[in-house]
Amino acid sequence: MSLREMLGKQPKSVTSHVGGRFVGAEGTPIEVVDPAQEAVIALLHEADGDEVDAAVAAARSAFDTGPWRGASITERQRVLMAIHDRIMDHAAELAELETINTGIPLTQTQGMHVPRAAHNFRFFAETINQLGGEAFTQERDVLSLVTHEPVGVCALIGPWNMPLGLTAMKIAGALAFGNTCVVKPSELTPLTVARLVELVADLLPDGVLNLVNGRGQVTGAALVSHPGIDMASFTGGTETGRAILTALAKGIKRPAMELGGKSASIVFSDADLDYALDGTLLGSFMNNGQMCLAGSRIFVQRPVADAFIERFAARTRNLKVGDPLQRGTEIGPMINRAQSERMLRYAETGAGEGARLLAGGAPYPGGNRGFFAQPTAMLAPDNGLAICQEEIFGPFATLQVFDEEEEVIAKANDSDFGLVGYVWTEAMERGLRVSSALRTGTVLVNTPIVRDLRTGFGGYKMSGLGREGAKGSRAMFTEEKATIIARGKRTFPAMGVSG
Ligand code: NDP
Repeated sequence: MSLREMLGKQPKSVTSHVGGRFVGAEGTPIEVVDPAQEAVIALLHEADGDEVDAAVAAARSAFDTGPWRGASITERQRVLMAIHDRIMDHAAELAELETINTGIPLTQTQGMHVPRAAHNFRFFAETINQLGGEAFTQERDVLSLVTHEPVGVCALIGPWNMPLGLTAMKIAGALAFGNTCVVKPSELTPLTVARLVELVADLLPDGVLNLVNGRGQVTGAALVSHPGIDMASFTGGTETGRAILTALAKGIKRPAMELGGKSASIVFSDADLDYALDGTLLGSFMNNGQMCLAGSRIFVQRPVADAFIERFAARTRNLKVGDPLQRGTEIGPMINRAQSERMLRYAETGAGEGARLLAGGAPYPGGNRGFFAQPTAMLAPDNGLAICQEEIFGPFATLQVFDEEEEVIAKANDSDFGLVGYVWTEAMERGLRVSSALRTGTVLVNTPIVRDLRTGFGGYKMSGLGREGAKGSRAMFTEEKATIIARGKRTFPAMGVSG
């Protein structure tokens, strides 16, 4: 029997993991659905305020009195590498589970998401040995040392669009720098993170890695407003980020926010157009288009615009939509019905605003189950349209025509978001010039998505606060301490002597 059939017959029970034990199974469970089949595949036990209390208390106690915070770098590296190996030993199972739960094609979960989840742990195992502190000696009689200490209990809140990879990045960073944590995955996609916690439970001291599940408004809100946490690292939508920031502000807790995007992909007429076409398609439609860094707001320079747009539309119509477990499927279902309907409403909104439908814009005709929608492309007359300004988070690309470099830079920057920019040109001087003009945290020149964990990933403007990556994650997960040491007896004014 396949994993999908097994889950369909006997949905998995997903509970919290607190202080080294799986707890909680009572209460009405939340149904977790396979978006391709609309079948219930898991029953999620929702953690209430008391259970969140217990998870934070377990993490607090493990941080304050447990061995993890003071463990040597060698010991932390050993554990992080063991987690890496455990993930890779179960890579096939995790990829299939991720595909069943999210609808992301198996080729992508197998080829990218699961290896990336494992790599996060390897990366931080290497990084903690390489990132040093600082020493200053400007004052001759004083040595100033800057060191980094674990921040404490980290609340780690992940999204549904790439649950294992993105949440693993947070867990790996938090653990690497000596913290303990409480993880809250999306209620829509809890399965792989729960399995990860199960798989690595014996590798960590009790209370270091705790898991709570449930709706954001209930479990998530209880976690981020809990006085016992020291920081929260969140990946998700901008509106949710705002609510979490408000909760954190009350306790003056540190936020790290990876939020939404509406990234421009600029195709200059001197680009290698076949290559740029491949790149913009992948940048728009990978992960079913449900990507924060999707480069789906595409600008094409006029001399090549007609040909490029026609070919982009034809390739969009040709994308293979279907069962994400099948080899060859390029686009799976949206995460739920609300999301697929929302995406299709944008096609209507765009048409009402004067955009021209080039491809898709309707429910997927094949099959009567699953939250499938046709990949969609629209030609937009103006960057101010809602379809060019709002994050749609589905396989939906807009195309616009431009004439001049300055004009397209202004249009690319005309967005509330500032996550990523893509530039396609054979002139490297232009690539660098446009990169420095774009108000985004990352610019990719002549390539779709590449993530180098040594560099920080995060956004300008409403795309977030902070960076994830080597130094960015250290800033997120550590407190910086200055220790000022007198090298010998110093001379300073003596007080209260003559008085
Ligand atoms: P949401 O903002 O809806 O949810 C993200 C997480 O926050 C979920 O676990 C959710 O729980 C939880 N949550 C919701 N409300 C609260 C609350 N009040 N307090 C605490 N936690 C809460 O985002 P999505 O899951 O819909 O993810 C898609 C969004 O994530 C897109 O906007 C995308 O751009 C962004 N994203 C950003 C990335 C980046 O690196 N910048 C990367 C990937 C995605 P539940 O789902 O159970 O309600």
